[in-house]
Order: sequence, then C-alpha cells, then structure tokens
Amino acid sequence: MNNWSGFYKKTRDERLNVIKEANILDNEHFNLLNNNKILDFETANNMVENVVGTFSLPFSVVPNFVVDKKSYLVPMVTEEPSVVAAASFAAKIIKRSGGFTTTVHNRQMIGQIALYDIPDVSSALHQIQEKKANLLELANQAYPSIVKRGGGACDLRTELLKGETDFLVVYLLVDTQEAMGANILNTMLEALKEQLELWTGGESLMAILSNYATEALVTASCEIDFRLLSRDKTEAEKIARKMVLASQFAKADPYRASTHNKGIFNGIDAVVLASGNDWRAIEAGAHTYAARSGSYQGLTSWTANWTNRKLQGQLTLPMPIATKGGSIGLNPTVAASFDLLNQPTAKELASLIVSVGLAQNFAALKALVSTGIQAGHMKLQAKSLALLAGAQEQEVPLLVSRLTAEKSFNLSLAQEILKDLRKKNQ
Ligand code: NDP
Repeated sequence: MNNWSGFYKKTRDERLNVIKEANILDNEHFNLLNNNKILDFETANNMVENVVGTFSLPFSVVPNFVVDKKSYLVPMVTEEPSVVAAASFAAKIIKRSGGFTTTVHNRQMIGQIALYDIPDVSSALHQIQEKKANLLELANQAYPSIVKRGGGACDLRTELLKGETDFLVVYLLVDTQEAMGANILNTMLEALKEQLELWTGGESLMAILSNYATEALVTASCEIDFRLLSRDKTEAEKIARKMVLASQFAKADPYRASTHNKGIFNGIDAVVLASGNDWRAIEAGAHTYAARSGSYQGLTSWTANWTNRKLQGQLTLPMPIATKGGSIGLNPTVAASFDLLNQPTAKELASLIVSVGLAQNFAALKALVSTGIQAGHMKLQAKSLALLAGAQEQEVPLLVSRLTAEKSFNLSLAQEILKDLRKKNQ
C-alpha cells in the first residue's frame, strides 16, 4: 500500500497508475475513469424529467480507510475544498490506531399507514394485531421478488397518536436486502391500505416509507492514541480534553450541533453521492435521529480514557444505504465506485459510510480545537480563487503562494496578482 503515500501530490495520470497497479478496477471501469466518461445524455434523460444536460462534480478517492480490519479506497464526490484532505488525514491517523470497528444493529426499513376517523379505535387496534400474519402475507404478496431474495415484510406495529385528530398509525417493517427499499415499501403499504380501511372502518390518509430508519442503525467506533494527536505529550492531552469538550458542546448547543453535524455530512454525503444513493433520504433520517431526545444534538460522542491514554469516538446513525436499485445501476461512475470499494454488501457500505462520518468529525474537531480550520481552508480557497481568476495549471501554485502570503484575499486580488505574474513572465 506504499504507493498510496503522497497520493495528493501525484498528477492525475500517476494517481490512475497507482489504482491500475493495485488492480482494483476492472478494465471497463478503469477505462471509464481514465477517459473521464460520465453519465450519457440518453440515460440521464430516462432517469428524471426535463433533462437538458448532465452536471459534473469532482470524483476523488481516499486510500487507507480501515473499517473492521478491511482496507478501503473510498470514492468521494464533493465540490467543497478540504473535505477529501480532512478524510485522508483522519483515515491515516485512525488506521495507525487500528481503524474503525462497526456494529450493524439491524437492517429493516419502516413504512407507515396513517388511519383516521375510526369509529372504534380499541377494536381496530385489536383487529390489526389479530390479523397481523394476514397483513404481512398481503404485503409480501405485493412484492414477491424481495421475499425470493431472502427479505420481505417481517413485523407490524401500531400506535395511537392522540391530538386534534386521532391517528392510528400502522408501521410495517421490511427487510429490503441490498435495496434502500422506498419503492418496495411503498408498493407493500399501498397494498395494505384498502384492507386496513375495511377492517378498521376508518380512512387512510397516506401510506409511505419513513426515512427515519431506526431499524437500520449502524455504530462506528474508533480509539486514537493520544500520541497521534500531537508529538508533544502535554499538547496531545490538551487536544484530547478539548475534543471531549467539543462533543459535549455540540450536545448542549443546537447552533453548534448544526455545524458539527454538517461536518459529519461533508464526508457522508460525498460517499453516498459516489455510491449513487439518495443522499436526501440519508440526511433526513440522520437529522431526525439527531433530534430524538427532543433537542437537536451533535451526533458524535468523544470520550477520553486517561489511563490508557486513548481518545474514543463513536457515531450511531440510521444508514439505509443500498448497493442495488434506484439509479445505482445506471450511472457508469457509480459502477466504478463499487469497483473501487471491492463490491461491498449494503451492510459493509453502511459501516464504511458511518466510519467516514466519524473520521470527518475527528478531523474537523481536531483542527477546530488546535490550529483552527481556516489555515487549511484558506489554502484551498486560494486555489479555487486562482482557478476562478483564470490561472492556468502551471500558474496555480505561484498564485496560491502569493495569495496565502496576504492577510486576506479575494477574487479581484487574485486577478491582480495573476496579471502581475503574467507581466513578469513576458
Ligand atoms: P427500486 O425500486 O429500484 O427497487 C430495488 C430494485 O433492486 C428492484 O428492482 C430489485 O429487483 C433490485 N435488486 C437486485 N438485487 C437486489 C437485492 N439483492 N436486494 C434487493 N433488491 C435487489 O429501489 P428501492 O425500492 O430501494 O427504492 C429506492 C429509490 O426510491 C431511490 O431511487 C429513492 O430515491 C426513491 N424514493 C425515495 C423515497 C424516500 O426516501 N422517501 C420516496 C420514493 C422514492 P427485484 O424487483 O427483481 O427484486
């Protein structure tokens, strides 16, 4: 794995060469990346409506990401500078501490049918529980292929929500195997609607998947030796304590929690996008989970073991990620992502993604409580400004170093310096 060192300093050809030599991509997917071949118009036009083109974003890889003793080359799609650098930094440090360990608590999706105007609620609740097996059978008949694949409807729960209008809510739990399951669930739920109306005498308001996937929770953990936080022993201890405080602060203050969690999703969304999954679904579930106590809180927990001098991080999230279904099979770059990841199962991908979230949070908090995030950010910001100002590839390094030498900089300064550099080179 030595070839991965200094990956960020290599040219694109050198990076692709490392990937080629590591034999991770099959020929088709290697050529696809090599030729920068993206989603073609015809496929895009069949995916959504009113298509007039396709839209590109940078596609990066992060090596050395160790999860449950497996090493991953993680594909990330993001437009934000410093996200990939931060993930790479955290991956390297956490690898030296043994990597991430994860637990997939369960993997079932939840859908709901809300019923109202029920004449006799307690009899309706009784009926539904009594006919549970029939309802599960009915749901499975509506989507038999998922049963053949080893999944299907496995449980049904009810809850009475009392309010201005009382709602009797029927929750259906489905093992969706490798799929995220929105369409699978919605098909099953629609099939139950009529029967439930008949048995309860009520009306159904809607039948729809819930993105609050509390039956698809995944926990990622890591333990980082204090000595990896700083070469200076006292400084390392100080950083460890401040990181613990930073996680407490994000639990106490929703203003901080929002930004804390945004940082986690810098990494998570990038991998979810690269894997062709529905990132809105993942975000919606996770933010609801962050508010489960009644107040919106930071999602990670950092504690310190002062005896064995280790910083311990943990992140639990709903992660109903898919390796099949949706648009996953349609986008050629997504196929390359799955190759780079060595064709993970949905559970493995979920574990990796939650680990990426924890890694991203580690990098952000470490920077925040020590050097601050602006130093790293401004260098990358300077690079973006250099490109915006129209610098050619060979002009970028000099322009960036001139910009970062200034107290502050903006686009007009970048344009001015670029003009000056070009004049001197004439
Ligand atoms: P699909 O409708 O694509 O269903 C899954 C597909 O994957 C099926 O065609 C299934 O084939 C196939 N498949 C192949 N192998 C497997 C396997 N091993 N396990 C499971 N399925 C397999 O996708 P989903 O039902 O997962 O729905 C996800 C899509 O729904 C996303 O595009 C999402 O954006 C969208 N969506 C999201 C909503 C939300 O989040 N609230 C709401 C509505 C839509 P077969 O049929 O032969 O079993």
